[in-house]
Amino acid sequence: SSNGDTRHFRESSPLQIFVKAKKKINDIFLEINDYVQDSVKYVESIQDYQVLIDSNEVQKIVEYVYKIKGIRDVLARDHMKVAFFGRTSSGKSTVINAMLRDKILPSGIGHTTNCFLQVEGSDNGETYLITEDSAERKNVKSVSRLAHALCEEKLNESQLVRIFWPRDKCSLLRDDVVLVDSPGVDITPNLDEWIDKHCLDADVFVLVAHAQSTLMVTEKNFFHKVSLKLSKPNIFVLNNHWDTSASEPEYIDKARVQHTERAVDFLVKELKVCSQKEAAERVFFISAKECLSARCKEQQGLSIQSGALAEGFPGRYFEFQSFERKFEECISKSAVKTKFEQHSQRGKTVAQDIRLTMDTLYEKSQKLKNDKTEEKKNVYEKLNYTEQRLLILTQQMKEKIQQMVSETEEKVKKALSE
Ligand code: GDP
Repeated sequence: SSNGDTRHFRESSPLQIFVKAKKKINDIFLEINDYVQDSVKYVESIQDYQVLIDSNEVQKIVEYVYKIKGIRDVLARDHMKVAFFGRTSSGKSTVINAMLRDKILPSGIGHTTNCFLQVEGSDNGETYLITEDSAERKNVKSVSRLAHALCEEKLNESQLVRIFWPRDKCSLLRDDVVLVDSPGVDITPNLDEWIDKHCLDADVFVLVAHAQSTLMVTEKNFFHKVSLKLSKPNIFVLNNHWDTSASEPEYIDKARVQHTERAVDFLVKELKVCSQKEAAERVFFISAKECLSARCKEQQGLSIQSGALAEGFPGRYFEFQSFERKFEECISKSAVKTKFEQHSQRGKTVAQDIRLTMDTLYEKSQKLKNDKTEEKKNVYEKLNYTEQRLLILTQQMKEKIQQMVSETEEKVKKALSE
């Protein structure tokens, strides 16, 4: 059944690399949180023994609770982000719709995207949008309403409108991918502001080019600026509108070779963002329009091959799917690296700091015990007993934390390498 196919596709999707790593890192931080809570309880229980620990040190441990909470909050919001760029009418909105398998973004004549549109999953199954200047959730019932709502807003080209779409309608959204459509790079843009506002946290960039023309200075210029600010951004080049070349078979092979050469040179020699071999897997020839229409037919239970199709449709459809596969692999690996490596580093620092405090505590109580045995035993009988207990407790805590640090390291290593 088509349902089973979808499930199979989802489970084998490379996006699961990110989804699983996120879950693992979440679990690890839950454990770290437990240990931090234990440590807080422990230091608070001994805080009256100022020979062992002073109030600043206690405070420091208590603050780790907030630090860990902060990391966990960021972690919960972490997602994979892909941003689409290209000239007006190159087909950016259509590509996004094809990937989402639904006509979500308005596209075509009269619907030039005049601001940044970000599509992300909504948790409550509702569709709404949020603009930058207010926290109000504006309900949207349909695409035409969405287009209308976007026209009504007085939007500046660098502004961001976030569109929330039900997660269960689309596997990309379900797996925490966020897609960003941009105004055409040819629309007198303030590129630097665009990059600072919308690009610095993107895991993948997709350049949507019109296959009927070569890459232009405006398109190239934008990516030159991006690669100045980000080290080796992941860039895919989609030569869209490839269906329109189908009617010119004598031209098609030559054009493909030429476009490929230029795009690869752009990535390898100009931007220096990847190797020749990698670049060859970043350039695709597709028809977003055909693909979107095929997927809409599929949703209605019709054959994707029905209706009038230009010569060579199956090949182009296959190539679109290859692009999606490579894209999913690239974005999930990149997001795991950029997002989770930082978190795990911070988690490790917290664990190590706590361990250091425990080490110091242990040394101090050890020394105290030795000093005390030098003195007359009977006077300090009672205190000695308490200190003995402290010593044992601290030792246990120290071991626990030590174990946590090495376990965390091990788990993070595993999560990142999978
Ligand atoms: P954007 O401005 O880059 O977002 O471009 P749109 O997605 O709005 O597309 C502009 C126009 O090109 C629309 O009328 C689309 O239907 C059409 N279009 C998009 N992709 C293709 C394609 O692959 N082939 C053809 N023939 N038309 C396309």
